[in-house]
Formats: sequence, structure tokens, C-alpha cells
Amino acid sequence: MNLLIKNGRVIDPSQGVDEVLDLLVEGGLIKETGKNLSAPSGVEVLDAAGKYVVPGLIDMHVHLRDPGLEYKEDIVSGSQAAVAGGFTSIACMPNTQPVIDNKTVAGYIISKAKEAGLCNVFPVGSLTAGSKGEFLAEMGELKEAGCVAVSDDGKPVCNAEMMRRALEYARGMDIPVITHAEELALVGAGVMNEGFTSTELGLKGIPRVAEDIAVARDVMLAEYTNSPVHIAHVSTKGAVRIIRNAKLSGVRVTCETAPHYFTLTDDAVRGYNTNAKMNPPLREADDVAAIREGLQDGTIDAIATDHAPHHNDEKDVEFNVAMNGIIGLETSLPLSLALVEQGVLSISQLMDRMSFRPSHILNLGRGTLKTGAPADITVIDPSVEWVVEADKLASKSKNSPWLGTKMKGVAVATIVGGTIVFKR
Ligand SMILES: [Zn+2]
Repeated sequence: MNLLIKNGRVIDPSQGVDEVLDLLVEGGLIKETGKNLSAPSGVEVLDAAGKYVVPGLIDMHVHLRDPGLEYKEDIVSGSQAAVAGGFTSIACMPNTQPVIDNKTVAGYIISKAKEAGLCNVFPVGSLTAGSKGEFLAEMGELKEAGCVAVSDDGKPVCNAEMMRRALEYARGMDIPVITHAEELALVGAGVMNEGFTSTELGLKGIPRVAEDIAVARDVMLAEYTNSPVHIAHVSTKGAVRIIRNAKLSGVRVTCETAPHYFTLTDDAVRGYNTNAKMNPPLREADDVAAIREGLQDGTIDAIATDHAPHHNDEKDVEFNVAMNGIIGLETSLPLSLALVEQGVLSISQLMDRMSFRPSHILNLGRGTLKTGAPADITVIDPSVEWVVEADKLASKSKNSPWLGTKMKGVAVATIVGGTIVFKR
């Protein structure tokens, strides 16, 4: 299907473009961008006046729960949530049942995602076999099967020697490593950020240094082995500082944060709100400020969601035993657009963090509106106000701290490979 998107504000940080233009899609690729393009016969025309036309959003950190935990989410429902949120590509983490540590599981995900025909789904394979931290996974096999990175996300690789070998081996295989940086000895039985609020609530705390120390270790191993490393879900001011300094000294480190870490503090836990329980936990105001600064100066490369669906029965329980994580695919865009409204990022910088850089880190060859690129495009109406309602979310799970909250900005069309897969 060929498509002409008329009169939208085209924002493409990969080309330094930000102006009102038309964009022509042909054969699944970007054909042309320019002023007053005429519609060839048989072309569908999409009026984007007053809207943003941006490279399709990419979420590099999603839990699809399929195979094995489809009661929480599956590849189809997760893809529906993704395209409703404006995402054209997502990378899914390997902590499924079974774990994505071989080509059979990776192949299953890719073929089921193709069948769904919504967004691109790129599996992340495990770093160690079964994500058990004992032996390296077959990274060559995983890469060949279509995995775009390797990670034991959900838990850290506790053994520094194992992480060293993993980094060296992955560099040889030319596949990115994503680390879940957490020192479990310091986490102990903690269930929220350690601080004033945890003391007041009588909940066991997780100190920020549990994250900082693990980030420092992985950064030092990356430096020592001259290997790239990507740090998942950065939440502390200390981690931002360590990564900023490492980048300045030439270490090949990249990182991501999630909307909840630049939007909420551990105050959200008050009332023992299990929809504010995640790992790493929500931190404090000075961490939120540091995350915003890190996004602004480019220390933090990407905004990912860490979309972590859980059934109501796993959240509607006592805080101490509730599962970690929240859904994020359908709220990430408005929460991130708020950074533009608040002057933290320009719209072009935001699209860099939400599309171009995640594509670059994972070598996806997307995140751009250049001629010849895959026509993955998101059309955004930044002015629409809406309220997050459980029964309107496409995700199977409803574990969001923003239920009932007013949001501003929404994807009105999500286009993958030139096909409109979602329209609002
Ligand atoms: Zn993680």
C-alpha cells in the first residue's frame, strides 16, 4: 500500500529536520519528503495537519510474557498495546518460560509476531543459559535466530568473572549486551527505595547504592574488555553520574531510563500502592532531577518502558509480596511528551531518545525518515487530552500507576513497513 502523509510537522533528528512537509511512502519504504508533494494515483492520503510525523517509536525494553505466562500478556496483545502507544518496534526480554536461550524460542516469537502483523518484535536472547548465570548462552545461535541483544534482565549477572566473559564473547559475536545492574547483597529483602518514605511506611528499603555499585562494576568491565555495554532502567543520580563520567573517559556505555523514573518518586508508594512497586524502585526527587538532566545532556541515550504486565491477582495483594513492575507501552508517549512541554528536551531530542538512538544501540537500521528507510512512522497529536482507563488499554494487564490520570498527547496513526497498523 502506498501512502502520502500531508502537511505534518516532520521531526527527524537523524537528518536535523523539523518542518511542515509531506512524506510519501512507496513499497514499504520512505520514498520522498518535501513540500507540496502530489499524490500518485491510487495512493492513500493521510492528513497530518497540526500533527507530528516522526520516525516510528522504538521501545527497547518490553516483557511480552510469551511463551509461558500468556495470562499476563502475549505477543498479540503486547503488540496491540505497542502500536496503540505509537511504537513500531519493540525488543522483548528473554525472561519468559522457557527463557529465550535458544533458536526455537526466538523463532517462535518472531513468527508469532509476524503472524500478528502489527509492530516489529525483536527478541533479546539470554546472556547465560536459562539466565541462570552459570554458563554463557549460545550467542551465535541466538544472533542467527534474530536476537538483537543478549541480557539476563530481571536479575543481575552476580559473578563479575561471568560478566567479563560475557562481554568479551558478545563483542566477538558483535551483539549488544544489556545489563540489569543490581547488587543483590545490598537489595536483601527490600521492597521499595530506602529512605524517609520507606521508614515512614515501615517497609524494607533498597539503597540506591545497590544500583550504583553494579553500574560501576559493569562500566569498569566494559572499559577493561573494551566492549560495549548497555545499562537497563537507570533510576539513581549515582548511576547517572557514573555513566556520564564513563562516557567522558571513552567507555563504550549506553543506557536507558523509563518514564516512571523521570515522573514519579517513592511518594507514589504511599497507601501501599502496589502499582508503584517495581525494580529498580521509584527513587527520590533528586534522582528524578538527575534522570532528567541525564536525558537532557545525552548521558541517558534512550527512553524504554520496561513494560512489565502482571495479573491483578499478583498486584492486589500485600505490598511485600506483590510482583515488581508496571505496564508502560500505552502511557510512555504522553509522559515523555511532558518533558518537551516542561522544557527538559526539545521534540527533536525526544525523538532521538525514543527512536533513533535505541535503533542505533540495537543496530535495527530504523529510527529515521531518510529516503529508502523502512516506512516505520508515528503520527502524533500532541494536544489531545485523555484519561488512562483500564478497560480501554490494549494490554491484557492493567497494572499502571496512572489509572485515572489525565494525559496529553497520543499516537493517532502507527505505520509499520508502510502499512497503517493502528489508527485512532
Ligand atoms: Zn531489569
